[in-house]
Amino acid sequence: MQRILTGERTTGNLHIGHYFGSLQSRVALQDEYETFIILADMQVLYDHLEDEKGKAIRDNVYLALLDNLAAGLDPEKTTFFVQSEIPELAELAMFFSFLVSVGRAKRNPTVKAEMEQAGTSYEHMNLGFLCFPVSQAADILLPKANLVPVGEDQIPHIEQTREIARRFNTLFGETFPVPDYLVSDFPRLPGLDGKSKMSKSLNNVINLTDDEETVNRKIKKAYSGEGHALFTYGKLFGVEPDERMGAFKPALAESVNAFLEPIRARRRELEKEPGFLREILDKGRDRVREIGARTLAEVKDRMGMVY
Ligand code: ATP
Ligand code: MG
Repeated sequence: MQRILTGERTTGNLHIGHYFGSLQSRVALQDEYETFIILADMQVLYDHLEDEKGKAIRDNVYLALLDNLAAGLDPEKTTFFVQSEIPELAELAMFFSFLVSVGRAKRNPTVKAEMEQAGTSYEHMNLGFLCFPVSQAADILLPKANLVPVGEDQIPHIEQTREIARRFNTLFGETFPVPDYLVSDFPRLPGLDGKSKMSKSLNNVINLTDDEETVNRKIKKAYSGEGHALFTYGKLFGVEPDERMGAFKPALAESVNAFLEPIRARRRELEKEPGFLREILDKGRDRVREIGARTLAEVKDRMGMVY
């Protein structure tokens, strides 16, 4: 069976941008592919080192796991794992770092955009920031994934992963698949402000956990001037466009709430058994470490590092 690897940085609740950008495809493909979901807690550090200590990171791992399960991923079929619990990822990333020039790393347009958003520069950013796409290549290639369902911002990272896989294969012999990305019909859902992409960091989101009142309030307050995103949401939730916002907004809010209700209900069930979540992560860690050990043994063998 071919494999999927995807996931998210554990920076907070997931939103409808994640759902229509990636979660929906994960759910649809979970029977067809062996699916691995990474909860990328180490990747949080490149731009949140100061503000995401201890508890926040810990809570966010469980938030992301719950959101994935509530959205319909089946933990019997899908492997969930926490990035920092897999030392093999760091080891593979180290080998990959020798295959990428500093110039190439700097040419990644998403890294550049996020660097600017974080108000830093190539001179001052941490090395982890510049190298996170290399670490992401290790996330994808350790389980030898074939397909990566992602939003548009991730395409440059998958391209970098493809280059790393090809370069390794050319230098040391056929080892890794060259993975494809899969973008949905909504690869960059705009936020409630109508300007930027809907993003955890930008306070312009409808979260999968938002209750009815919150959804009503957010949609009522949403920007409805030129370039607004409300008709895009209308398309997603099956609400006909209507320039009269006094009529359109409540209809949209009702449809969003109807869509979120089963997700909320599943979440409420899952929250009753918090121990179950740690069990899912234990099982995932063991499985990925076992697969990872095999991949690394092969990598070292190919590179002549067997003594
Ligand atoms: P952060 O602001 O912390 O980076 P984020 O909202 O950008 O958070 P990520 O964890 O970086 O979320 O992204 C997880 C996945 O969801 C990626 O595949 C990303 O492309 C996708 N995604 C995120 N936001 C959107 C969006 N607005 N539309 C479509 N896909 C999205
Ligand atoms: Mg992001």
